[in-house]
Amino acid sequence: MSLAEPLVRARNVQKSYGDNEVLKGIDLDVLPGEVVVILGPSGSGKSTFLRCINHLEELNAGSIMIGEQQVGFELKKGLLHRLSPKRIARQRQEIGMVFQQFNLYPHMTVLQNIIEAPVGVHKQPRAEAIAEAYELLATVGLSDKADAWPRHLSGGQQQRVAIARALAIKPKLMLFDEPTSALDPELVGEVLATMRTLADQGLTMVVVTHEIGFAREAADRVVFMDGGRVVEQGAPEEVLVNPQHPRTQAFLSRFI
Ligand code: ADP
Ligand code: MG
Repeated sequence: MSLAEPLVRARNVQKSYGDNEVLKGIDLDVLPGEVVVILGPSGSGKSTFLRCINHLEELNAGSIMIGEQQVGFELKKGLLHRLSPKRIARQRQEIGMVFQQFNLYPHMTVLQNIIEAPVGVHKQPRAEAIAEAYELLATVGLSDKADAWPRHLSGGQQQRVAIARALAIKPKLMLFDEPTSALDPELVGEVLATMRTLADQGLTMVVVTHEIGFAREAADRVVFMDGGRVVEQGAPEEVLVNPQHPRTQAFLSRFI
């Protein structure tokens, strides 16, 4: 795996809101098939970093490459040009994102939620999209819920539908931003189990979570962020068990 080219290559990523410097130079590679878990205290810039990868935010400095493409820009004759909104939308379609709030379309059934982007945006034939949606529902353990309305599902079920919906565009990369933080404790496990399945299938995932157990069991690499910087990163058995940096130690001590 270490011989593979990174799928994500973030270099010196900086982002400010006004004079609030939120990201102070993030360097991070994500290899194809890798599961990277980002840990860190509230306000450390984790969500902002994910939003930069997905070009929901524009960087103030640095760059993010997804494969051969730079997020938001292209190099033409040695000069960087900002992509058109249409091209940016196309880039974003290669990345699936799952948020804390699942935001399913309430007026659509589960199946309609899942096929909306493939049919509406990608112009995939409807029958094909439906067949694939059923496969995705099987993956997330909700084969019997295709015709259900979101409001009739539990939070954990809704989040699993949101994951299926994000997967329906066949993303190269999935970003998860605290996907279980809004759930009742008894529903967290089913969503984490679904994410484990995806990890085992070889999906490339960047996951922001406070679920240390998930990090320990599913992550190939754990990244600890604090104050807009990557403070420490490594294999879960290193970072979680034997953290080197005092700030990582202080953060993890809360979970013991
Ligand atoms: P985390 O996800 O690690 O909790 P965030 O990336 O959400 O951290 O936020 C980091 C900092 O950026 C916080 O100080 C937050 O107030 C600020 N911030 C995030 N989004 C915005 C925004 N859209 N406008 C202004 N400030 C923001
Ligand atoms: Mg956040």
